[in-house]
Amino acid sequence: MTRSKLLLLLAIAVVVAAFIGFDGHKLLTLENLQANQSALAQWIEQNLLIAVVGYAAVYVVVTALSLPGATIMTLAGGAFLGNFYGLIAVSIASTLGASLAFLVARFLMRDTLRKRYAETVAKMDRGISKDGAFYLATLRLVPVFPFFLINLAMGLTAMKLRTYALVSWIAMLPGTFVFVNAGTQLGQIQSTSDIVSADLLLSFALLGLFPLIAKFVVGFIRRRKVYAGWQKPESFDYNLLVIGGGSAGLVSAYIAAAVKAKVGMIEKHKLGGDCLNTGCVPSKALIRSAKAADTMRHANRYGLESVPVKGSFKNIMNRVQEVIAKVEPHDSPERYSKLGVDCISGEASFVSPWELEVRHNDGRTERLTARSIIVATGGKPAMPPIPGLAEMEPLNSDNLWELQEQPERLLVLGGGPIGSELAHAFARLGSQVIQVEMGDRLLAKEDSDVSELIKTQFENDGIDLRLEHAAREFAIEEGEKVVYCEHKGERVRIAFDQVLVAVGRAPNTKGLGLENIGIETLRNGTVPVEDDMSLRYPNVFACGDVAGPYQFTHAAAHQAWYAAVNGLFGQFKRFRVDYRVMPWVTFTSPEVARVGLSEAEAQAQGVAYEITRYGLDDLDRAIAESEDYGFIKILTPPGKDKILGVVVVGSHAGEILAEFTLAMKHGLGLNKILGTIHPYPTWNESAKYAAGEWKRAHAPEGILKLLEKLHGWRRGKSPTVPANRIKVTER
Ligand SMILES: Cc1cc2nc3c(=O)[nH]c(=O)nc-3n(C[C@H](O)[C@H](O)[C@H](O)COP(=O)(O)OP(=O)(O)OC[C@H]3O[C@@H](n4cnc5c(N)ncnc54)[C@H](O)[C@@H]3O)c2cc1C
Repeated sequence: MTRSKLLLLLAIAVVVAAFIGFDGHKLLTLENLQANQSALAQWIEQNLLIAVVGYAAVYVVVTALSLPGATIMTLAGGAFLGNFYGLIAVSIASTLGASLAFLVARFLMRDTLRKRYAETVAKMDRGISKDGAFYLATLRLVPVFPFFLINLAMGLTAMKLRTYALVSWIAMLPGTFVFVNAGTQLGQIQSTSDIVSADLLLSFALLGLFPLIAKFVVGFIRRRKVYAGWQKPESFDYNLLVIGGGSAGLVSAYIAAAVKAKVGMIEKHKLGGDCLNTGCVPSKALIRSAKAADTMRHANRYGLESVPVKGSFKNIMNRVQEVIAKVEPHDSPERYSKLGVDCISGEASFVSPWELEVRHNDGRTERLTARSIIVATGGKPAMPPIPGLAEMEPLNSDNLWELQEQPERLLVLGGGPIGSELAHAFARLGSQVIQVEMGDRLLAKEDSDVSELIKTQFENDGIDLRLEHAAREFAIEEGEKVVYCEHKGERVRIAFDQVLVAVGRAPNTKGLGLENIGIETLRNGTVPVEDDMSLRYPNVFACGDVAGPYQFTHAAAHQAWYAAVNGLFGQFKRFRVDYRVMPWVTFTSPEVARVGLSEAEAQAQGVAYEITRYGLDDLDRAIAESEDYGFIKILTPPGKDKILGVVVVGSHAGEILAEFTLAMKHGLGLNKILGTIHPYPTWNESAKYAAGEWKRAHAPEGILKLLEKLHGWRRGKSPTVPANRIKVTER
């Protein structure tokens, strides 16, 4: 606890002690007030200003410190100031007091709670930022919720002070009026419970429903308002139309067909989108060839003769195409047609929130209507505006797969996942790879220890890694392609044969006619989706790379479920997309697989964590395969086995991660992983050993020492083995 917090706590304790010490709680009683009513009234008449200021000050202190007596103070307001001035004085003082209590609770507790229960607090904050004012109004209107508890609880949320004070002030007015008015009849009140009869409580409860009804009505009007000026068709061609037949579009269409909706999927190029045709599938096929080349080059590791890698790049690329062709039936129009999806080939653009114009490849156009429309148009490689780059005929993840000759010197621009995967594959296949990255490390979204390990491996595999190099200009000099980079204030010249640009991806929104329906893209080019995946109109949705924030096939599929289900059944219930457990893998060698928080993210979000590490050099299976390098790093809250995040760097990292992902998703802690039988010798055993490392670090030392003594005593000897040598996990 910080000094300022301690000081504040101390000050509060002093005031509370003084209040109790001077019998404040006994002074602020109905009997006392009634007994002294006429004397007090007389004094107030003579000292009006002091009385009003003093009254307000005491009221603020009582409510700010959640001391008993606020009800009596309110009655006193009515008794001495009358209905009008009493209401004004009490409502202002109670709002001030409530706001101070709110601020005190926030200052003392919010950070601690945020650190300990980051997820819960984040969830609460999301709810508060959306509907907090409505909830607060309901709580304030119904007098069964204690005043001080609302102040303290709201202080722990992210609600803005201004909103809190304003909503509190307005919503407390009816209750304040009842009590102030009762105060004007002070002589007739026997007890404070007389003021609020059962009927009155019921009326307040009904009044409390008002904000919730208002919330529903506001939402309804807001949803309807966006349609103003549009003529909704009376009937529709489809329940759902999906634009784009990549990962997101295919899953959306699949779900709609599975629940017997009439669904059309419009694709302008090839079903399967990036993942099948230019992304995941071809890149993984290429990486496999690269791995085979690496194994041949280092066959001596396995007692065989290492051989220089000879082969035809053309054959490698032919194999890549064969792999695509083999996977293609999963995403084919034939399969989807059989499932009940109308596969429409052409380019779609919006005419209205329910209508699309489709330009078919043969030049025909037609208009189609649907109750709901999903935008799943994906993205394309971004091209940075570097002078001279276009003249280099750069490669990117779209055109790379047509390459028939292997570049001798390949310049890879970009140190993110795609750039790193491809740089490593080409290096292992024998190209001389120069990888240029503006930042100071590769895979900047991962922790620096991860980047460091990958850097070492890349350098071992012969990649000429140029970190902190910003490409500024491309040129052809004496027939040779060159790039000039800025590196720590110096101009560095790098010669190459071909350049592969992998500096990020730009969402596909051009030509979609989003402007026709008033949808603007965000600064990063993605469309602005709500958490139900809708876009401005409750019947228009987006998912996949065009929506962000992730650019993975499984993220696209995950979002597609929400878009399709909300698109088809959103009138009855809307599901909010949940990204809490989003795993991903970068397929370098070693692989990098992550789920949940990284160390850097935990620090940035102020989440308290502990680190458990397990080195894969200890794993028998890794040793048997001569792949005994890499690590598992797990983040847990201090003293708890709950998993906050995991990164695995090593062979089969993607597969090892699956167990942690499942555990996180279903709230299983490390103890549960440790208590699960894992077959020997598997890569996945490493998850259990990592959990064992956590257990070892949290062994109950005191109990172990006692046990040591007990065992010694049972042997008739004093203990000789130090407790820390006792292994908690078996292997
Ligand atoms: C080299 C590379 C490797 C990758 N590796 C992985 C990986 O290992 N794992 C992973 O999870 N992700 C990987 N990804 C990312 C993954 O490919 C994407 O996240 C995923 O394909 C996104 O799916 P999508 O449906 O949003 O978009 P896309 O797959 O791009 O599909 C969009 C489709 O919409 C069509 N379209 C666009 N506009 C229109 C229009 N107006 N009318 C009709 N059709 C239209 C396009 O032709 C396209 O077919 C990789 C990407 C690349 C480039």
